[in-house]
Amino acid sequence: MNDCIFCKIINREIPATIIYEDEDVISFLDIAPVNIGHSLVIPKKHYVNIFETPEKELVAMTKIIKRLAHAIKNALNADGINVTMNNDKAAGQVVFHAHIHIIPRINGDGFGLWHGKRNYNEGEKEEVLKKITSML
Ligand code: AMP
Ligand code: ZN
Repeated sequence: MNDCIFCKIINREIPATIIYEDEDVISFLDIAPVNIGHSLVIPKKHYVNIFETPEKELVAMTKIIKRLAHAIKNALNADGINVTMNNDKAAGQVVFHAHIHIIPRINGDGFGLWHGKRNYNEGEKEEVLKKITSML
């Protein structure tokens, strides 16, 4: 895509700190990291997010994420790693070329996840289970 910032990174039209590349995926440092070493893994073909990305690419992404998670954790002496993907605006997606974040976490780093968690009301679990499984 012409005006996609991540396609421009793939095509070397803008710079990035590239960690890994193969025929399907590329990984580079996030320009504004939550913590040092925060990296992104993206498919080389332009897909908007998980809903468009074919299984082949998602599998390729997952394989390198597994390796990168180990490498980043060990290299940075991180206490933990978040692997997250924002899909669509409501989920916080800002760049509309599919990408998965690998975020090294340090005890007490203050980065907050899962604000506003709730509980299920009576019968809600069964209802949502039925809805989701009927779509699989
Ligand atoms: P998301 O909210 O999941 O769409 O996250 C997009 C991520 O892309 C953010 O964490 C940005 O810091 C990162 N980002 C945006 N532009 C660049 C760039 N040119 N190079 C590296 N990372 C970028
Ligand atoms: Zn793109």
